[in-house]
Amino acid sequence: MSSKSNLSISDHLLKGDGIIPYLLEHTKGGEFQSSYPDSVIIHYTAGGSAESSARHLRNKDVKASAHLVIGRAGEIYQIVPFNYQAWHAGKSKYGSRVGYNKFSIGIELDNAGVLTKAGTEYVSWFGKKYQQNDVLQARHRNEQDLKYWHLYTPEQIAACERVVKLLIENYGIKEILGHEEIAPGRKQDPGPAFPLDRFRNRLLFEDRADDETPLKGKNYKVTASQLNIREGAGGQFKKVAQPLKKGSEVTILEEKDGWCKVKTTITGWVSKGHLDI
Ligand SMILES: [Zn+2]
Repeated sequence: MSSKSNLSISDHLLKGDGIIPYLLEHTKGGEFQSSYPDSVIIHYTAGGSAESSARHLRNKDVKASAHLVIGRAGEIYQIVPFNYQAWHAGKSKYGSRVGYNKFSIGIELDNAGVLTKAGTEYVSWFGKKYQQNDVLQARHRNEQDLKYWHLYTPEQIAACERVVKLLIENYGIKEILGHEEIAPGRKQDPGPAFPLDRFRNRLLFEDRADDETPLKGKNYKVTASQLNIREGAGGQFKKVAQPLKKGSEVTILEEKDGWCKVKTTITGWVSKGHLDI
């Protein structure tokens, strides 16, 4: 992609270099209610190419869709206009909100997802092989074990950032979440190869990074049936006690990267998405 600065949105469609209009003839979801979309959900395709994923999501017989698919060179397929809902979130919940298709724009990034090591190569679930320089070994925020993840390209992350910036300006987007955060246990995309925390902090919070956290000192209730409480802000940290039960009240002391340090009978870190914030 040569020129990258001419991206714009008009009539709920992206315009500019590298945009490939690939619209569904009949949208699968209805129009957004007024005041929505106010969120962006980041996904990976777990597929072999942006074009094949876009073609799949565009198929009227497939019960899934997304607004955009971003390829590894930064090219962008638009499948659903931004004023219509797409079917990307599925059963989903974050804080007190349920069913994120009604609230959010879905962005799919062309990426093979979790890979399995085979000799000196890494293999996707669909049998494509990848070399070591395309792979990150890392621990997922919702899991314990190290796994191999297909890397995103810098062009792809930059294209995603430009689009989300435009969506913030045009739709007042207030929340950027990963599919793994609104459907933990069921979904693991975009996974640790996508710099989700830095990405949303840069786009949503950079100009008020020094502010006190607005949640600090306030009390919230646990919405998950069981909520792990840990030594640090991430799934890799040790649990400090038995999980908190649904309805337990906690006081927020600190907030970081989608996690909150809370005080109840004990003190520790919990995933922010499972509090009724
Ligand atoms: Zn997803």
